[in-house]
Amino acid sequence: MARRLKWRAIRIHRSYSVDEAARALGVAKVTVRRWIASGDLPVIDNCKPMLILGGDLSVYIRKRRSRKQKLRLDQCYCMKCRAPKRAAFSEAELITTKGRTAMVRMLCETCTTVMHKRVSWQQVPRLSALVSLSGTNRFKHLGETNQPCVNDHCKTEV
Ligand SMILES: [Zn+2]
Repeated sequence: MARRLKWRAIRIHRSYSVDEAARALGVAKVTVRRWIASGDLPVIDNCKPMLILGGDLSVYIRKRRSRKQKLRLDQCYCMKCRAPKRAAFSEAELITTKGRTAMVRMLCETCTTVMHKRVSWQQVPRLSALVSLSGTNRFKHLGETNQPCVNDHCKTEV
């Protein structure tokens, strides 16, 4: 998903078979077939094997890209729904941290599939204003979050 699709390589005035489109974009053939099956990527009528107009392909890829950028802070991309989804019960959990980012886990509001996203520490207070965020006291960056410091290093966890 993180891979950038090479839509600039697409020539809008030629047509592509599924195989050619996949190769030009650097994705798997099943991915292209899925786009077609979803009805979002048009194919040329009555053509076997299926042919995709370069222009349609280019529009589709760019639309997808702008859709992806619109993921809001309290949304994750659900792999099962194939759409940006908010957290079920408005609950999220900070699970790991690496450098200036934290990994957040939440469940899809629609299908409750586990979703993950990386957020920067600066975004954590904003995120915890939107969802009930647990796990923040597991990390030492407490000064950067909304959660008050519960002096938990003093106590031994049982
Ligand atoms: Zn889902």
